[in-house]
Amino acid sequence: MDNCLFCRIVNKEIQAKIVYEDGKMLAFEDIRPQAPVHLLLIPKPHFASLNEAPEGAETLLGELLFRAREIAHERGIGASGYRIVLNTARDSGQEVFHIHFHLLGGRRMEWPPG
Ligand code: AMP
Ligand code: ZN
Repeated sequence: MDNCLFCRIVNKEIQAKIVYEDGKMLAFEDIRPQAPVHLLLIPKPHFASLNEAPEGAETLLGELLFRAREIAHERGIGASGYRIVLNTARDSGQEVFHIHFHLLGGRRMEWPPG
């Protein structure tokens, strides 16, 4: 999608600090980190949120989760713990409408979330 920020990162039209890339997905540093580790993991195909995820995307979404787990271990927060967030639609506070998992860690998280 031409006017989607994260599609533009996928297409290298906007710079990001990419930490992982393969044919299906991308992981990059969040521009406003909320924790010592704060990465975003996105599928390369565009869908706006989990609500718009098409039939058949189950595998890709699972692969994103497993990649997040691997990156968490690489970053040294696998054992200490981390939080994966998938904001979906208005009440969640979703701001960018290209589905993305947040991977947050390196500090103690609060619960319940704000
Ligand atoms: P959400 O509220 O779940 O839609 O989160 C969107 C996230 O994207 C926020 O944490 C932003 O800081 C992050 N973000 C926005 N623009 C960029 C960008 N150009 N590069 C990296 N992260 C971004
Ligand atoms: Zn997009």
